[in-house]
Amino acid sequence: MTSAKNILLLPGDGIGPEITAAARKTFAWFNDTKRTNFVFTEDLIGGVSYDTHGTPLTDAALKRAQEADAVLMASVGGPKWETLPFKDRPERGLLAMRKGLGVFANLRPALVFDVLANASPLKPEIVQGLDIMIVRELLGGVYFGEPRGIETLPNGERRGINTQVYTTSEIQRVARVAFELARKRSKKVCSVEKANVMESGVLWREEVTKLHDEYKDVELVHMYADNCAMQLVRYPKQFDVIVSDNLFGDLLSDLASMLPGSLGMLPSASLGARDSSGRQPAFYEPIHGSAPDIAGKGVANPLAMILSYGMMLRYSFDMAANADLLDAAVKNVLRAGIRTPDIAEKGQNPVSTQAMGDAVVKELARLAA
Ligand code: NAD
Repeated sequence: MTSAKNILLLPGDGIGPEITAAARKTFAWFNDTKRTNFVFTEDLIGGVSYDTHGTPLTDAALKRAQEADAVLMASVGGPKWETLPFKDRPERGLLAMRKGLGVFANLRPALVFDVLANASPLKPEIVQGLDIMIVRELLGGVYFGEPRGIETLPNGERRGINTQVYTTSEIQRVARVAFELARKRSKKVCSVEKANVMESGVLWREEVTKLHDEYKDVELVHMYADNCAMQLVRYPKQFDVIVSDNLFGDLLSDLASMLPGSLGMLPSASLGARDSSGRQPAFYEPIHGSAPDIAGKGVANPLAMILSYGMMLRYSFDMAANADLLDAAVKNVLRAGIRTPDIAEKGQNPVSTQAMGDAVVKELARLAA
């Protein structure tokens, strides 16, 4: 057994604490069976941090996150905090956390579990067996570029300005993540920009092409972002890994998140640069929000949180066997018709958040026996 790893858990707001409680049962099973040696600590982020400390992320919580081997968050936000000034909003805590950790590559899988193919808004044959990974650049581009702002011109007209800007190193480090991932998957990268109309897109294409020299075993194609959006709906199975900038990656990953049909199933990871000792900042979270409409009712789907933990096993700790075991357990639970209300089909009696957590643990134990 390797030395203990420190995991910071951030349950956050809304359904966050409920899905964390259900997911914790899975974490405990892996520890109890000595498959992992993780020490979990908890801290506050988002609205609950604002209510307690007057800020959505304290310096102490960020420091704990920076010192942890990995961070796992549930969700932040809710109507209670929507009228606060921008700097105090729960989502600012999340942005500050990502920035403070230096996580520049956001990994979002769009994976369709066969038994849920009917839940997709697309025809089942289009999504059956789908397994794509979108890598979005997270800390650069038009969301951060300067100059930015709203100004008033001498003629009284107002002008809003944002700047799309990328450097060689920013492009190369995120493209490297995509190539490395593709090597562990189906060895195909699709790099997405708008090189037809944007200079930053021309640079993006040139730098990704240059880096490809180091990854000749991986197939590289380039695609314009508008075409990629269309192809994701027309024939998504053509893709393996898609890499794109912050803006296009934001849109494309949201589009792709609809292919599996339920937000409650989708995990994500955000990774930073590995240092010389091999440590890599890593932040894992479901892609869904705090679901205030169902918070406190015990019906939220904890699987995105559980699968985020699975990504952590795979990407932070190289525990592919444990991650595969967890994926298999989740698949079997779904196959057995155990569903929370968001993914229940006609005739299926939905189970609670905690019962879903219990079912995953029971299946893990059965598979491992
Ligand atoms: P949302 O993802 O919270 O909810 C959208 C819909 O999906 C709702 O109907 C909700 O009930 C359902 N849903 C989401 N997760 C579910 C789950 N695990 N199980 C079952 N159903 C689930 O998005 P929203 O309603 O636009 O936002 C609500 C709040 O969450 C806002 O304050 C928003 O800013 C915040 N938010 C946070 C994050 C995050 O924490 N990373 C992401 C998106 C939105």
